Amino acid sequence: MAACVDLPVLPVTRISLLHWNDLAAYATVMPVQMRRRVEPGAPAEPTIESMSPVCPRTPNFAMRDDSQMDNLHPASGITADSAIVRPAAVDGPGVWPGSERRLPEAERPQRIVVIGAGLGGLAAAVRLAARGHDVTLVDKRDQPGGRAYVYRQDGFTFDGGPTVITAPWMLTDLFELAGRKAEDYISLVPVNPFYRIFFNGGDHDGEHFDYTGRSAEMVREIRRISPHESDVTGYLDFVRLTERIFAKGFTELADQPFDSPLDMARVAPDLIRLESYRTVHNLVSRFVKDDRLRQVMTFHPLLVGGNPFQTTSIYTLIHYLEREWGVWFAMGGTGAIVDGLVRLFGELGGRIRLDAEVGEIMTSGRQATGVRLASGEEIRADSVVCNGDVARAYQQLLPASVRRKYTDRRLARMRYSMSLVVIYFGTDRQYRGTDGPELAHHDIILGPRYGALLKDIFTNKTLSDDFSLYLHMPTLTDPSLAPEGCDAFYVLSPVPHLGGKIDWATQAKPYRDRIMGFLEENYLPNLSRHLVTEHMIDPRHFDTDLNSYLGSAFSVEPVLTQSAWFRPHNRSEELSNLFFAGAGTHPGAGMPGVLSSAKIVDDLIAADDRGEPMSVSLQEMAADRLGRLMTRTLGR
Ligand SMILES: Cc1cc2nc3c(=O)[nH]c(=O)nc-3n(C[C@H](O)[C@H](O)[C@H](O)COP(=O)(O)OP(=O)(O)OC[C@H]3O[C@@H](n4cnc5c(N)ncnc54)[C@H](O)[C@@H]3O)c2cc1C
Repeated sequence: MAACVDLPVLPVTRISLLHWNDLAAYATVMPVQMRRRVEPGAPAEPTIESMSPVCPRTPNFAMRDDSQMDNLHPASGITADSAIVRPAAVDGPGVWPGSERRLPEAERPQRIVVIGAGLGGLAAAVRLAARGHDVTLVDKRDQPGGRAYVYRQDGFTFDGGPTVITAPWMLTDLFELAGRKAEDYISLVPVNPFYRIFFNGGDHDGEHFDYTGRSAEMVREIRRISPHESDVTGYLDFVRLTERIFAKGFTELADQPFDSPLDMARVAPDLIRLESYRTVHNLVSRFVKDDRLRQVMTFHPLLVGGNPFQTTSIYTLIHYLEREWGVWFAMGGTGAIVDGLVRLFGELGGRIRLDAEVGEIMTSGRQATGVRLASGEEIRADSVVCNGDVARAYQQLLPASVRRKYTDRRLARMRYSMSLVVIYFGTDRQYRGTDGPELAHHDIILGPRYGALLKDIFTNKTLSDDFSLYLHMPTLTDPSLAPEGCDAFYVLSPVPHLGGKIDWATQAKPYRDRIMGFLEENYLPNLSRHLVTEHMIDPRHFDTDLNSYLGSAFSVEPVLTQSAWFRPHNRSEELSNLFFAGAGTHPGAGMPGVLSSAKIVDDLIAADDRGEPMSVSLQEMAADRLGRLMTRTLGR
């Protein structure tokens, strides 16, 4: 095994999350003024100050304050621009001032079963346990985390799924609301650049685009790759629009239940004004001309299972989210977040049962009464929260007799996101750009075809010869994830879900060989000689291990007619005390999405506790018709 070469050591102790506990309680009810940074040398941003300066539900998350960033280590690549700091007005880091900052205790504690220990399930379980409910979390797998499962082999630690952490306050909130300090459980560090994007796959010419949250850097990169000067102003105009989309789509809507069509009616004019009926690619193309730049500005929906050519432009809010609050990584990997949540849940009195597959949600009339495990054991409950895939839950856990809306036919008609091939691998050498391109923590390698490849994946459902890849190289940030002198990677390729005709039993190996050969030739010299450990998943894993319908990696596809009210609701439309937290319900996939869904479920159960009215079935029916009409009219 090669000796360790002079790795830049991250000053972890100096960059662990600072404290912003003091804002925790009142920030959820008090508008927080959003502060903007000033970037020397950056072109003037068009009227950015004038745009929705108040973010009504931007929570207890510290705003950036460059003046507090002097102590960050320059070698870490961590810049003042990307670090989170505690607002200057807040005294005493780590001071926890009292119980009013915790979630209020439920008046009538319930027995609650949560099916699935994915991030949405864990977050819901923590919230509910923090309110004093008696919560049992059951998962069919041998480890918690769901898609954030951790593979440990031959001294390497591989995060199975999420690696790009955005909206970090949504994680830290979970600890704060339970009366704990987040930094006692998890340590998040900023990643810069957010992404290094390589163009044209096989024709690798070393050209890449460093995608960051700073306008000056972005403008420099845009000028480097685009011959159109108008793309600079176009980009800045686009940023301005994404702020407005964020204010509506994230701040106002992401943590609201959308279980009444009136919710939809209320926001519809804004959504129309913000051109949500356009697709992400269509909207971006109005602002920038260069084709490669369009790719750079439109790949984000793929992170939540959407095709940029079909996903509603609401998802451009991800640009703004990343730009304003950065991209983060958990030291120890995302698995460390799962461990932190599991520990917290245990401390709150929650119970986790692994290797415990739920075979049925038991019902009486229109009420869930608990779950029956595949083993036959019954666990009674006053409410059931399902974090497993929504489609599979309706198909397999609830008898057809109680399903008025989500019939098998309807579930089959819905659209599901693509699947993935992911290869986790470790090398007995480190790749630091000496004999190949210099890689970043998050690398996106775009193939020679963009729109056509996505069409093959999402529409034709065929396995193409070419591919676009996401290459994860966490050892650049946390060397402890591999033995000394080694690197840990995963490479991810979007592929069609199982609704196509691909025989993965015969196709998986050749596909793997093509990807690894491509990486060896273009990015990781002599990879095959240095490969010391490997594990691979394909759509069958999502189908069988994770119980996801059609092996979809991100559940229900995020198109307009399957968003907000049109998405399966957080409170089941079939049973009044069955709730969904996770990727297939509102607001959608990705860590911020599933953490929001957990908050919604917690709010709904708390509202039940207070005896507040539920949504009305007549409204449901009216909006159902509206949904179908929209589907027919828009054709998606
Ligand atoms: C490879 C990959 C990379 C990703 N990268 C990112 C990223 O960088 N950033 C980001 O924000 N998002 C990312 N995502 C998306 C994100 O990981 C997911 O949207 C999110 O983690 C899904 O969480 P969830 O709460 O829906 O639960 P899931 O992770 O889907 O977990 C559901 C759990 O339910 C359990 N379950 C299902 N049925 C049953 C049953 N009948 N009985 C008992 N248990 C059951 C399953 O075993 C599973 O543990 C990625 C996803 C993948 C697959």
